[in-house]
Amino acid sequence: MGQKNRYGLSRDIPEPTKRDIRKRCGFGCVKCGFAYYQYHHFDPPFEEAKSHDPRGITLLCGRCHDLEKGGLLSQDSVRVCNKNPICLTNGFSFFPLDLGTKTPEVILGTNMFINNPIIIEGYGLPLLEIEAPEESGTPFRISAVFQNKLGKEIARIVQNEWHGVQTNWDIQINGPKIIIRHALRSIDLEINIESPNRLIIERINMFYRGWQLNSTKDELEVYYPDGSRWFTARNALFCGNSHGIVFGD
Ligand SMILES: [Zn+2]
Repeated sequence: MGQKNRYGLSRDIPEPTKRDIRKRCGFGCVKCGFAYYQYHHFDPPFEEAKSHDPRGITLLCGRCHDLEKGGLLSQDSVRVCNKNPICLTNGFSFFPLDLGTKTPEVILGTNMFINNPIIIEGYGLPLLEIEAPEESGTPFRISAVFQNKLGKEIARIVQNEWHGVQTNWDIQINGPKIIIRHALRSIDLEINIESPNRLIIERINMFYRGWQLNSTKDELEVYYPDGSRWFTARNALFCGNSHGIVFGD
C-alpha cells in the first residue's frame, strides 16, 4: 500500500468512499459473498484511474481477486457481479469465526463469562451461546442473534459462521475486529476476536422484544421494555452456570 500510479493516485481510498462501496456491495465480495475482501478498481483498473470513483471500485475477496488477476474471472463477470452483488441477493455477507479448542472467555464490557454455555437468553431463545466442541480437538461453537431497536436483525452467528446483514448502514471488518454502525459514530456492535480463545464484545446495544442490553467499555446495563433499568453489572465474573443473563418469561 502507499504506492502511487502514474497519475499520482495513491492506493489509499478515503474512508467515506470505502463506506459507500461497502454498502453498495452488501459488505462482502460481489462474486461469492465472503465478508473478508479487498477494494478492487475495475473500471478503470487502478493503473488507469485518476480518482477513487466509487462507481468503478468493487469488493472482491482474496480468492476471487486472485482468480481475476489470473485471468480466470473475466472483467465482464466482475461488472455483472458488481451490478448484482450476491450479498444483496442473499441478504448477508459471511465468514467463519474461530474461537479455538480451549474453553472460550467471553467479555461483555468489563464482565467476563467463562463456562456459561448460554450467555444471553431472551424469552427462552439463546441470543448468545457457546456450545462445546462436537468432538475433542474441534472448536467450540458460537451462535448469536443481534437485533436493533426496531427489532430488525443486524447480524447472526450460526455455529461459528458470521452473517452480517446487508441492510446495516455499515459493517467494517478490520483484522479480528467487526464493527456495525447505524450512522457515523453510532455503533450497534463492536466485536474483537482475540486469539486463541477470547471473544470481546467491546460495545453492544442490542434489543429483543423491547428489552435492551447496552454494554460499553465501562458497564453493562439491561433495561425492561418500559425503559426502566433492571440491573447494571461492572467487573462481574459469571462462571460455571448454565445461563448468564436471562430475561423474558
Ligand atoms: Zn469472493
